[in-house]
Amino acid sequence: MSRVLIVGGGAAGMMAGLIAAGCGHEVEIFEKNEKCGKKVYITGKGRCNLTNAGDMEDLLNSVVTNKKFLYSAFNQFSNYDVMGLFDELGLAIKVERGNRVFPESDKSSDVINSLVRELNRRNVTIHYHTAVKEVAVKEKAFSHIVTEDGKKHYGNALIVATGGKSYPSTGSTGDGYEFAKKMGHTITKLTPALVPFNAREEYVKRLQGLSLRNVGVVIRENGKEVYSDFGELLFTHFGVSGPTVISASSLLTENITRNPLQMEIDLKPALSEEQLIKGF
Ligand SMILES: Cc1cc2nc3c(=O)[nH]c(=O)nc-3n(C[C@H](O)[C@H](O)[C@H](O)COP(=O)(O)OP(=O)(O)OC[C@H]3O[C@@H](n4cnc5c(N)ncnc54)[C@H](O)[C@@H]3O)c2cc1C
Repeated sequence: MSRVLIVGGGAAGMMAGLIAAGCGHEVEIFEKNEKCGKKVYITGKGRCNLTNAGDMEDLLNSVVTNKKFLYSAFNQFSNYDVMGLFDELGLAIKVERGNRVFPESDKSSDVINSLVRELNRRNVTIHYHTAVKEVAVKEKAFSHIVTEDGKKHYGNALIVATGGKSYPSTGSTGDGYEFAKKMGHTITKLTPALVPFNAREEYVKRLQGLSLRNVGVVIRENGKEVYSDFGELLFTHFGVSGPTVISASSLLTENITRNPLQMEIDLKPALSEEQLIKGF
């Protein structure tokens, strides 16, 4: 039996804890917040879109970059395994439009509670209000972590599950990048993804709250079309959001760091210019 230390009690940390404890290891999770899964709580507009009930090909096709990387992970623990796990944990789930899987209660808190209950049942120790400040390495191997109160915690293995850098109010402030660097990993340039866009023009911000359906969206970089979509778009106090914009952001991470982008919105994409003029 090994002693496994996990930094972060989010979605990844809780799952890692369950699996490691299931393999018979002694597990301790260190979470800086007062509870686990603060980000999971806000997912899927508070309903938590757990997984997708489509087949493996569907899943891989919706991965935007480096889908090959996920191939072995999906093979070892598929979306059906996720559904099976929550079934075992007693969480009723349902499948909605687009094969999206949600808890039947529509409450993300039920997802978190089912995971924390199982962690407790598997005797995983969770240290709340406990931020990890440092990861110590000895002879190129993990030695121990140091928590905010100065205490050292030794273990045979360390799992860094501190999340990314988005929504820092949920606890994910990017500490894991430093820990990973310390352990000898290379960190690539960080870029935002699945985010709304800021607009330069003041008039766009005056449209705040306006929600459009069935519109055509074309995004250009230096005049060259780099993205087009059809669907919903929302004006916000800083720019634009909604499904078409969020999807675009995940594909245009490089473009947005290079240049400001131009967006065209076609309010009546099903009508030609002649048909529109005739209508008036
Ligand atoms: C608005 C929104 C909606 C989303 N909707 C969905 C959805 O419906 N379905 C879906 O699958 N995904 C959704 N996501 C994405 C999903 O939330 C993330 O992919 C997921 O939470 C990542 O899990 P994680 O465990 O890697 O990181 P996180 O959930 O960010 O967890 C990291 C944890 O580590 C802790 N931590 C960080 N640093 C330290 C430290 N130094 N010491 C101790 N603890 C530390 C943090 O407090 C946090 O609890 C959504 C995200 C957002 C922002």
